[in-house]
Amino acid sequence: MDLSAYAEHAVRLVNTEQPARGEDLLRSPDDVPALIAPVRRIPSRVTDGDVARLRSVRTRLRAVFTAAAAGREADAVATLNGLLAEFPVHPRLTGHDASPWHLHLAGDAVGAAEGFAAIAGMGLAVQLATHGIDRLGVCRALPCRNVFLDLSANRSRRHCSDRCTSRANVALYRARRRAREPQPDRHT
Ligand SMILES: [Zn+2]
Ligand SMILES: [Zn+2]
Repeated sequence: MDLSAYAEHAVRLVNTEQPARGEDLLRSPDDVPALIAPVRRIPSRVTDGDVARLRSVRTRLRAVFTAAAAGREADAVATLNGLLAEFPVHPRLTGHDASPWHLHLAGDAVGAAEGFAAIAGMGLAVQLATHGIDRLGVCRALPCRNVFLDLSANRSRRHCSDRCTSRANVALYRARRRAREPQPDRHT
């Protein structure tokens, strides 16, 4: 089991909020099942408290990415360590449904939000420790502020998606063309 793969869930949580587009995909208990389904069983009851907790975790996970991308490593690590302490994993070997023994990081006794936060936080911490803090990125194709994990061989990724890469390329092309155009004569 590759724990660092769980870092993707931290990315998914942060990117439920897209301030530039005025979009927020995490506003009510109805929004929670889609978020946590890839990670754990959906509990029968999801409350406003779960939403509030997940939104608070989201803010702090974004702070981890922002600090890491800005080279403020100590800040990034301190924030992530805070999350790990607040939402500890509860590892448990299980073998349900005839599947081989495998680890669950948060048992059913842990609340929906807490369990998701524990798994996403642990994934991001393992990712950071295994592959380096410079793998945590924030999209540079403004106004997009999505976060991403740079898994490229040469650590050259700058954008959250192909869409943002082509948007940034178009913007760069236009800026260069503007720079080449003759400037209007300001003396007349
Ligand atoms: Zn399982
Ligand atoms: Zn982007």
